[in-house]
Amino acid sequence: MIIKEMLEANRRFSRESGIKTFEAKKPRKSLVILTCMDHRLVDFLEPALGIARGDAAVIKNAGNTVAGENNDVLRSLLVALYLLECKEIVVVGHTGCGMKKTNTGQFKEKMLQAGIKEQNIENLELDNWLGSFESEKGNIIDTVERLRNSKYIAKEVPIHGLLLDLGTGSAEHLVTV
Ligand SMILES: [Zn+2]
Repeated sequence: MIIKEMLEANRRFSRESGIKTFEAKKPRKSLVILTCMDHRLVDFLEPALGIARGDAAVIKNAGNTVAGENNDVLRSLLVALYLLECKEIVVVGHTGCGMKKTNTGQFKEKMLQAGIKEQNIENLELDNWLGSFESEKGNIIDTVERLRNSKYIAKEVPIHGLLLDLGTGSAEHLVTV
């Protein structure tokens, strides 16, 4: 079980002397990042963009997407803006995103094999959010536009879109609105 490894690592970690309590209540750079949950971004996105512990709030989901007007991602963004006093939003997508052209049929099949009831899978409306984008760039721009059009986000808040190349680590600035 991976949890055992994690707890062992944690015992070593907490014994280390260099760890200090973190007092800052708000992100130092007044920045909130929305990015993908991809495992390859772990310990990669932050150094690639010069983000250190305490600098920014980071929200992750599958494919850095925002669907609808009232959902967990948007709620977290609003917490970042109105509670943590963030002043800018950066949407960071990446090359080779697993959410691009996802095969909803195979996905559904795996759920069925896991014993999930078909009716429950139908209720998920997979086609509406899984495999819903053709290109990472298009998806980032779409997410930025959705946020720009949100009635809950003030027009003064700059919203940026970046594409991070997993191979080279370089970031392409796609849009700022
Ligand atoms: Zn991704």
